[in-house]
Amino acid sequence: MDAPPLPPPAPTHERWERREQLFGLARAATGFMPDDEGEALYLAALRAGASLENATFVEIGAWCGKSTVYLGAAAEETGAVLFSLDHHHGSEENQPGWEHHDRSLVDPSTGRIDTLPHWRRTIIGADLESTVVGVVGDSPTVSSRWTIPLAFCFIDGGHGEAPAWADYRGWARHVVEDGWLAIHDVFPDPADGGRPPYDIWRAAVDSAEFVEDGECGSLRILRRI
Ligand code: SAH
Ligand code: MG
Repeated sequence: MDAPPLPPPAPTHERWERREQLFGLARAATGFMPDDEGEALYLAALRAGASLENATFVEIGAWCGKSTVYLGAAAEETGAVLFSLDHHHGSEENQPGWEHHDRSLVDPSTGRIDTLPHWRRTIIGADLESTVVGVVGDSPTVSSRWTIPLAFCFIDGGHGEAPAWADYRGWARHVVEDGWLAIHDVFPDPADGGRPPYDIWRAAVDSAEFVEDGECGSLRILRRI
C-alpha cells in the first residue's frame, strides 16, 4: 500500500520568527491599517504568491509603509516582488484642514506632505529592499504604461470619486485569471466612511469578472475568475 501523502510542511522556526518580526514592525509603522486587516492582507497575498510562480504584487497607496510590510512579508516568503506605488504627497483627506492631516509629514522645503522618507525608513528597517520596490508617481500615469500581469493588486490610494475609479479602471485589468484584487476602506454603511471604495468594490463584483474571496473589517478580497 502506498504511504499516505505528507501534510504540507509547517513553517520553519526561522520563517515563523521572521513573520512575527515583520508583523511587529508593521504594527508599529505609521498608517491606516488595523492589525487584523493587515494580517488578512498578508494571508491573501501569501496565497497569491504561493499559487503563481514569480508572482508580481502591486500596492496602490503606500503612505509610510504599514501595509507595504504586510504585503512585503508575503512576497518575501513566496519569492514574489512587490511594487509599492505612491506619489507620497498624501490624498485629499491628508491635506491641511482635513481629518487625516499630520503636520509632521510636511517637507518644509516644498511645503508639501512627503511620506517617502518615512516609507524608506520602514522598508529599510524591515530589511525588505530586495523584495519591495518603491514606485514614486501618480497612479493613473503609472497604470497607463504598466504591462506586468499581477498576481495580487491592493487598492488603497485616493478615496475620492475620481482617484478611486481611476485606480480600479487602471489596475484591476492587470490582475491575471485566478489572481487577487484587494480593496481597502470598503464601507457598506455610508455612515462608516466614504462611498468610492465601496462603489468600485461593487463594480468589481457586478462585473462578474471577480468573485468575493474573503473580508476583514473594511478589507475586501476578490478573485478573478
Ligand atoms: N496603505 C497605507 C495607507 C495609504 S493612504 C497604509 O497601510 O497605511 C493613501 C495613499 O494614497 C496616500 O499615501 C496618497 O499619497 C496616495 N495617493 C493618493 N492619490 C494618489 C495618486 N493619484 N497616485 C499615487 N498615490 C496616490
Ligand atoms: Mg486604507
